[in-house]
Amino acid sequence: MGASGSGIFFDGKSSERHVVTIVLDGQALIVKQEGQETPLAVWPYDALEQVTSPDGVLRLALHGSADLARVEVRDPTLAGAIDDLSIPVDRSGMTSRRSRRKVVVWSMAAMASLLLMAVFGVPYAATALTPLVPYAAEMKLGQAVDRQARTMFGNDDPSKPLECGTSSEEKVGAAAFGRLVARLEAVAALPMPLSVTVIRKNDANAVALPGGHVYVFKGLIDKAKNADEVAGVIAHEIGHVAHRDGTRTVLQGAGLSFLFGMVLGDFVGGGAVVIGAKTVLQMSYSREVEAAADRYGIDLMQKAGGDARALASILDRIAGAIEPGFKVLLNHPATKERVAFIMRTARPAAGAAILDASDWAALKTICGKG
Ligand SMILES: [Zn+2]
Repeated sequence: MGASGSGIFFDGKSSERHVVTIVLDGQALIVKQEGQETPLAVWPYDALEQVTSPDGVLRLALHGSADLARVEVRDPTLAGAIDDLSIPVDRSGMTSRRSRRKVVVWSMAAMASLLLMAVFGVPYAATALTPLVPYAAEMKLGQAVDRQARTMFGNDDPSKPLECGTSSEEKVGAAAFGRLVARLEAVAALPMPLSVTVIRKNDANAVALPGGHVYVFKGLIDKAKNADEVAGVIAHEIGHVAHRDGTRTVLQGAGLSFLFGMVLGDFVGGGAVVIGAKTVLQMSYSREVEAAADRYGIDLMQKAGGDARALASILDRIAGAIEPGFKVLLNHPATKERVAFIMRTARPAAGAAILDASDWAALKTICGKG
């Protein structure tokens, strides 16, 4: 769950003012009214349009929409967060100074990175710069890479959408999966919202992109013996998110062109995004990076009350390759080492399974029954 705050909503049909809660999730601005399950509006950040308004009020509409629905935000912190998330929204006045400062900072970063790259090479420069990338910039990069990656995954069941959990027979599974992810996200306390999606890919795999976008492949859920195994893999991927491994990989892959795109505030649709997405989908991390994500995953599972050893069980079963590009054979010492490390470090499960039996049975059907 991202930032939230209060605002005013006009539905465009009547002149009634609705006092609402505005929630900023990974993809969209969500308008909720107290006591109502269904949001009044879900507006993707890219489709937000800023409408003329008095000073101190951010007034938004949905681009290209026929009705006159409007959202008004007076809370400057919330308005700033929306500005950071949405490319089309750029509040004039007080933000022009801020965006000028952003450009100066990024020009300096670009210059510093040129020097770093000239002296030490791209991988070093990417490693040194990744911690300096603002989270708002990582989220924008994440949105662009995520869109690109979705076109690159390839759907193993083209008669259905790439994303599982969307049809009516898959909804129950999606709800159970949502509960599992929410439990992990609550203890992970990431600086950005997490978005975990199951997709129709037959490999037993998972991948974390920049900006908190995690994909779990159907094949992994098929191979899992219990919910803790699925949770363990997701906890490991959340480790990559927390350590910003995907962002560093994209910086390494797309290098200079990406950096300049960032300075100019435009990395959507650029060639750098294509290269960046390809790199992050094909990469294999070093042993050190994997070990750090394993340690994070163990810790997270223990805090969430799950069985931290379940990651070792599933790694052992699927030959240690839970990420694209990570081609390790069952008998490879690296896999045995990881499994042994997890078994040595993680405490045995303390309580009940991370999902109850009926939720686990439901989760198994997130990509349909059969
Ligand atoms: Zn990993």
